[in-house]
Amino acid sequence: MIRVYNFSPGPSMLPLEVLQQASQGLINYQNSGMGVAEFSHRSAMFGDILQACIKNFKTLLNIPEHYHVLFTQGGAVAQNALVPMNLLKNQSLAQYGITGHWSQKSYEEAQRYASFAKIECVHQAPRDINLAHWQVNEQAAYLHLCSNETVDGIQLFDVPTTGVPIVADMSSDILSRPIKVENYGVIYGGAQKNIGISGLTFLIVRDDLLGRHLDICPQIFQWEQMAKHQSLLNTPSTFAIYIAHLVFEHWLNLGGMPYIEKNNQEKAKMLYDCIDQSALYHNDVEKSHRSHMNVVFRLADESLNQAFLDQAKMHQLEGLKGHKQVGGMRASIYNAMPLEGVAKLIDYMKAFEKNGGTSF
Ligand code: PMP
Repeated sequence: MIRVYNFSPGPSMLPLEVLQQASQGLINYQNSGMGVAEFSHRSAMFGDILQACIKNFKTLLNIPEHYHVLFTQGGAVAQNALVPMNLLKNQSLAQYGITGHWSQKSYEEAQRYASFAKIECVHQAPRDINLAHWQVNEQAAYLHLCSNETVDGIQLFDVPTTGVPIVADMSSDILSRPIKVENYGVIYGGAQKNIGISGLTFLIVRDDLLGRHLDICPQIFQWEQMAKHQSLLNTPSTFAIYIAHLVFEHWLNLGGMPYIEKNNQEKAKMLYDCIDQSALYHNDVEKSHRSHMNVVFRLADESLNQAFLDQAKMHQLEGLKGHKQVGGMRASIYNAMPLEGVAKLIDYMKAFEKNGGTSF
């Protein structure tokens, strides 16, 4: 089998070693005669996987003791509703920073809870993101932001200075670099980029923020209940948790966050340098906010877009089409994308430019 380099925004590439281990675990987990997807979520075997998974996640990200790691379902999109539902009890204000597609969606969904608290936007300018200009009201129940706008290729490498709990959608940059978890009240996202496969949603919640849910919040989605029952209120995505466990172990064995960050910085620099030095490709994101995970770029001659994608596919480079809302191209270079994959993409981009878009 030829493994292609898959630049898809998610689901996306996983480390081959993890896939090999998981394929074994799917059929016969530790010689139990059963696969992971077949045994009970109440079994001791699954309990061990879940505990190890949480422990490794905490170790990797250096998550302090006064935070809970929770696993649930519904993706990051479900949390757009569940964040206000879990945090707005007896509160009068929630604030949102809008920096692109996904934070805009979070803000719009939160408006559905506007009868409980005012839902306000503190910033709306994808091209000019200066965190110092965000007008954060210190009375707000929380400030929501998206740390990496997967569609727009915009990343926030810092957080606003505020005492208000920051709620961050980290779907597409969790585990991409070390962060100070203490700077956040809640971190959440879908697992299908840097953590594993779809069907799993992760949450990191500061303990004092548990128990602030609206009465209308379904019990199954109350973070407080999830924490009390260690993410086993109902049947969780057991296989997806197993994959996350393998992914965490994989990166820990290789050196953890310093190793991951170094690779990601190198990959992003190589690709942005290629774009900046070219006459055909360009990226308009302000340099200090260029995403290290999702590198968006456009061709000066957009009539070449389809040829670019078609020939890329012939060179085993997949998933490069930009999001339909913004067009152009996007190379998602999550943790599992090897340096060689980015080098191969760069060689291809240079050859495509040199040949003026004709076949080579
Ligand atoms: N937020 C961000 C930043 C994303 O990248 C995505 C998925 N691409 C979502 C939210 C939606 O995630 P899900 O499909 O897991 O609900």
